[in-house]
Amino acid sequence: MSRLKRGAILVLSGPSGAGKSTIINAAAPEIGEYYFSISTTTRAPREGEQHGREYFFVTKEEFEEDIKAGNFLEYAQVHGNYYGTSLKPVREALEAGKLVIFDIDVQGHRLVRAKMNDITTSAFITPPTLRELENRLRARSTDSDEVITRRIENAKEEILALGEYDFTIINDSVEEAAKEFVIVAKAARLKQSREEEEAFIARWLQ
Ligand code: ADP
Ligand code: 5GP
Repeated sequence: MSRLKRGAILVLSGPSGAGKSTIINAAAPEIGEYYFSISTTTRAPREGEQHGREYFFVTKEEFEEDIKAGNFLEYAQVHGNYYGTSLKPVREALEAGKLVIFDIDVQGHRLVRAKMNDITTSAFITPPTLRELENRLRARSTDSDEVITRRIENAKEEILALGEYDFTIINDSVEEAAKEFVIVAKAARLKQSREEEEAFIARWLQ
């Protein structure tokens, strides 16, 4: 019997610049088939970002239409922009039994937990210190000073939610952090929904 019949969710959060994309990319060859949920946002694309690859970039009006239509599993305002996860592709990936990975903020994590707690595993990813986060945001040089300052201020708030997550991954060396991420992804796949547990017990007792 395949364990992963109904899919599972792995939520990753952490300050912008923590290294979430870097770690997912480094770990990708080791974590088996997964579906990375591409969010929709009203923020402007950074250099090198493509519509439909990093995000679906939309206007505020388009985003608000989607809210009204009930198209989001969750959405939140982060750093003054809207970010949201579309329900349909996530539902399809879960029905196909896939591991669905979200890169969403702490508010999004709370909303996903409230809706899908029994199939959700989560990890908070952070550089070793606030100072190191700032160095990386500056080195990435994709954001203005003003945006970096806003992200740092936000990070001071976000770190307070660390205790709400199943795991913490400290991104000091990318290689080590990617190894830990592979373990967390495997653990996420092993998590069964309540329905699957009940079905297993019923079969086990026969
Ligand atoms: P996020 O997806 O969390 O916003 P990124 O993956 O874009 O973060 O990483 C932010 C920046 O930090 C990038 O320029 C990336 O190359 C760099 N970076 C990521 N991990 C490390 C690390 N362990 N040591 C040094 N720099 C890193
Ligand atoms: P960035 O602008 O650096 O790509 O992302 C900023 C923040 O928004 C990050 O903390 C990221 O995890 C979060 N984020 C990205 N997509 C979503 C989403 O769909 N929902 C929520 N709640 N947060 C998101």
